[in-house]
Amino acid sequence: MNRLEQKIISDGIVREGNVLKVDSFLNHQIDIDMLNWIGEEFKRRFSDVKVDKILTIEASGIALASVAALHFNVPVLFAKKTQSVNVDGEKFCSQIASFTHKCINNVFVSKNYLKAGEKVLIIDDFLAMGSALEGLTDLVRQAGAEVAGIGIAIEKGFQEGGRKIREKGYRLESLAIIDEMDGTTGTIKFRQ
Ligand code: 5GP
Repeated sequence: MNRLEQKIISDGIVREGNVLKVDSFLNHQIDIDMLNWIGEEFKRRFSDVKVDKILTIEASGIALASVAALHFNVPVLFAKKTQSVNVDGEKFCSQIASFTHKCINNVFVSKNYLKAGEKVLIIDDFLAMGSALEGLTDLVRQAGAEVAGIGIAIEKGFQEGGRKIREKGYRLESLAIIDEMDGTTGTIKFRQ
């Protein structure tokens, strides 16, 4: 087991509805040492890939992507969910269905920060049904930029997102892939 998998076993809580709670170290309180290991691991796995920018989505992707960005020495851009008077000019927009909040979010990035030809590494905390990644890859496509790879901390391998993303040919690296999770017993099984 790698460090993230050990942390999930020791501190993660399996909830009803296929939800894994990791808010003691990733989604609410943040274990920065754990995040730093995740950032280093993404850098190691994507060491052969040119990355100009990291793209994630607010809110929980931001901390993870920011620590990773230190290892890649590139800026982080996060897709916003709420309209803001602080974002000037034209935007690329997409829609993302939220697995945890059961709603549709209109997400956007400013055209100032995503440019044609840029090599973009997408990073997020979870991969479940794949909606967040569909929206983020759509923003990259609209900009004429290129998805250099996708780094996920926790993939729920029993949901369909990972398969859909791999079938599309993206290079997807998930640091912990959960193949089975039982809310009654709290058991978690990782892919070997
Ligand atoms: P997807 O779009 O792939 O269905 O879900 C990805 C997003 O939903 C992630 O950005 C994450 O915030 C959230 N998410 C999905 N499953 C879980 C889960 O089991 N636990 C937590 N904490 N977040 C999840």
